[in-house]
Amino acid sequence: MNIQSMDRLEEEAAFEWMRREGALALSGLFIVLLMAGFFHGSPGWAQVVALATLMTASGALGYDRLRWSPLRPAQARVDGVLSFDALWNARQDMALGVLLLATAHAFIQQAGTMGAEVYPLIYALLAIMATYQRTVVTVALVVTALGIEIGGHLGGYPPGLAQPDLGILLTRGLFLGLFGGFHMAWSRWEMLRQRTAAQAHLDRQERERLDAARDWRLVATGKPDTGLIISRQEAEDLLVDDAIAAIAGSIGASLRLLRSSLEGHTAALLWLDEGGLRFDLRGVDSRSKADLAQTLQPGEGALAGVLRRQEPLLLNNLARGYRGLPYYVGGHHGKVRHFLGVPVLERGKLRGVICLDRVVPEPFDQRDVERAQEASASILRAVQTERLFLSIERSRHELSRFYEASRSLNRALTPSDVHDVALESLWEICQYDFAAVVLEHSRGEDTVLRVVRTDDRGDEHVGRWAQKIEGMEFGHNSGLVSMATEMRINLPHNGAYRETQNVVFDRKTPLRGMKSLLILPMVGHDQSIGALVLASANPGVFDDHRRALLEVVANQVAVSLQNAHMYKAMEEMATIDGLTGLNNHRTFKGQMDEAIARAQRSDVPFTLLLTDIDHFKSINDTYGHPVGDEVLRTVSKTFRKLLRQTDLPARYGGEEFAVILEGTDLDGAFLLAERLRQEIEALQFTSAGKTFSISMSFGLSAYPIDAEGKAELIETADQALYYSKSHGRNQVRAWRNVRSAPDRDAKKAP
Ligand code: GH3
Ligand code: MG
Ligand code: MG
Repeated sequence: MNIQSMDRLEEEAAFEWMRREGALALSGLFIVLLMAGFFHGSPGWAQVVALATLMTASGALGYDRLRWSPLRPAQARVDGVLSFDALWNARQDMALGVLLLATAHAFIQQAGTMGAEVYPLIYALLAIMATYQRTVVTVALVVTALGIEIGGHLGGYPPGLAQPDLGILLTRGLFLGLFGGFHMAWSRWEMLRQRTAAQAHLDRQERERLDAARDWRLVATGKPDTGLIISRQEAEDLLVDDAIAAIAGSIGASLRLLRSSLEGHTAALLWLDEGGLRFDLRGVDSRSKADLAQTLQPGEGALAGVLRRQEPLLLNNLARGYRGLPYYVGGHHGKVRHFLGVPVLERGKLRGVICLDRVVPEPFDQRDVERAQEASASILRAVQTERLFLSIERSRHELSRFYEASRSLNRALTPSDVHDVALESLWEICQYDFAAVVLEHSRGEDTVLRVVRTDDRGDEHVGRWAQKIEGMEFGHNSGLVSMATEMRINLPHNGAYRETQNVVFDRKTPLRGMKSLLILPMVGHDQSIGALVLASANPGVFDDHRRALLEVVANQVAVSLQNAHMYKAMEEMATIDGLTGLNNHRTFKGQMDEAIARAQRSDVPFTLLLTDIDHFKSINDTYGHPVGDEVLRTVSKTFRKLLRQTDLPARYGGEEFAVILEGTDLDGAFLLAERLRQEIEALQFTSAGKTFSISMSFGLSAYPIDAEGKAELIETADQALYYSKSHGRNQVRAWRNVRSAPDRDAKKAP
């Protein structure tokens, strides 16, 4: 905004203020004049000027008021907030009202004894203003009118009264109140009525939109609740709206073309609703002024013939007054002479009827029938295309989720990862409220079903029962989960859940509040391993398209789970560490038991050596994990090179190694460890042009002198290692030498 226009706005604001306040002041002045009986008697020039001023002022203010908001109460609240500007406007209404009252009274006073006849003017004025003023303004005006009345009475007004007349005063007061109040109430009620009517109109439009969508089979049909459809995201709504508009467009074009090329009078498309109980008029091109029926019964008139035979119906040369054309209100149109009805068939099923009629003398012939059939085919194609388009749009979203799910499932390596990924992917596809992973689980001779994981995304009611389900076991029973697993089919077939009828897990565990249910058996490598349970509080969630998609996901989950279990089993079976080729931890523990047993039998002691690479984490951090792996491999090679055949090295943990030195006492072990330490220290590694070296810390403990059993032996060797670590690293320590050291317990200190 530039400066000039700012100035103008300020000027205008100042002018408005003057106008309002001026008008209020002016009306106050005239009220005083009225009470003093100024207008009484034959008018002099002062009265004429005063009346002219009054009329001009109220005319100007009234014009201004109509201009900014014709006949609307001045709103003091804008969007629910009390606005100063708006209150200002209410003052203008007040000023206008008082001016008009004053003008009317001036005339009444002027009319002298005739005033009684003109007085109803005041009531009319109040009534009019009450219909469009804010309540507070109306009340203020009624009070002002009463004030003028009382003041006038005391000052000898109304004219012709010798003394104040309480009867007249009371009557007028009563009427003033009545007119003001009644009209205000009436206008409020009228506003409410209009708002309700507008809302009803909107609701009806929305219902019609849904009806159309369902007729074209754009949205899921046959579902008990339309709530699901309405609550779908806006994008979906827009898509459906677009599709409806596109269909209406092509129908309109086809009908127009058909009617004009066949010299028809009316061409109409009547579409059968989803239940087949009603025809809706879904498109029309007509030269007729007669009213067309919006909906009609399938069995009516000529339509019944088309419906029954599902073939074109020709009715040429109709008798005058023929009443079998139900698309005209009353079934009849005076001038129509010929009728042609052509069914719209989709895979042998009647979807609608094209009705065409003529007023010209020439009857319809076979070629006309063919043209109408072409139009019918083109309308059907439009509907199908849009339906396909919509379902592609919908599937595209779900398919992309589906591919993501596949990829994530491939990456999940442990069973628990697979459970997580499976639930996450399923949720992305169908937004369930409750889901569970159920697996076959062997217990002794039998197999039971066990809920290994649940997930609830619904409200807290779902949370309450869902938590109790995780971990529960149940036998093969008559429940749906058990049946789905055994029969390898998804259940229930309609995807609906009834708490009173369906047993999901067992009888004691209903899924409260759920309306949709899908149990997908998990079958991988031709083996049934359990089921996925999905439930939603919305009805109709698991339609055919989704079920097909979810079924594939379930099978993928099954394969991933089997793989994960296999990896786990393989890991458990393995004896060798994959990276270094040394024995793994598990094998090492077994070897410890054997070494202890041998030592007990032969009375030959052995020593346990535990080692840990120093600052290995920083090697990973600096050079990367693969280089770290290479270091681990080189270290293990060095171990193997220096150790004897009878020594048993193992990868104890990440960068920790353990060696059982059989037939070696502590002194011998110490020497060996020292050699290992020096060899390792001397190793040179290169990565990315940089050379680096490493060091290792060692801890020793001997059996049976330092420890009585396996656990104690490991613990003592570990403490010796810890001592090395905490005393500068890159050294060898024996438990025997450090156990009495003052800070040996430092490990336990924080
Ligand atoms: P220090 O033992 O001297 O106290 O320091 P550190 O850096 O070695 O400490 P820590 O034992 O906490 O770190 C061990 C690191 O070894 C952490 C882990 O990333 C790494 N690591 C474990 N297993 C492997 C492996 O198989 N390959 C590689 N590259 N790194 C591993
Ligand atoms: Mg470590
Ligand atoms: Mg380390």
